[in-house]
Amino acid sequence: MAAGVGALSPRSVSRYLAWRIRPESAENTEPKIHQFACTSCPTDSLEGTGVASEDFESARGWIYLHLAKFPEHTGYRESVTRHWRADLLPGPVPATMPVAPRVLP
Ligand SMILES: [Zn+2]
Repeated sequence: MAAGVGALSPRSVSRYLAWRIRPESAENTEPKIHQFACTSCPTDSLEGTGVASEDFESARGWIYLHLAKFPEHTGYRESVTRHWRADLLPGPVPATMPVAPRVLP
C-alpha cells in the first residue's frame, strides 16, 4: 500500500483502543447455525456436507444418514456460525487487555 491516507506505519499509530469482544446477546442475535461435514469425503463435496440447521439434533442427524451410505466414513467436523459483538470500551487500556491500534487521520 502506498503511503498516504489509510496507510499504516509505526509513526501513524498514536493511540490504542480497548475492545470487549463477546458473543452477541441473545436478544440481539440470530440463532446459532450447526453444520457437519464428513472428513473422508472431498472438502467441496455436497454429498459430504450436511444440512445447516439452527437445531443441533437435526444437523447431527445428517451423520446417521451419511453413515448408512458410507459406513467407513467415521470422522466428522462441525461448523458453528455464531454472531459476535465488539464494543469499544471507554478510558485507558487496561494492562492485561489485548489492544488494537487506531490510526488517526
Ligand atoms: Zn463421507
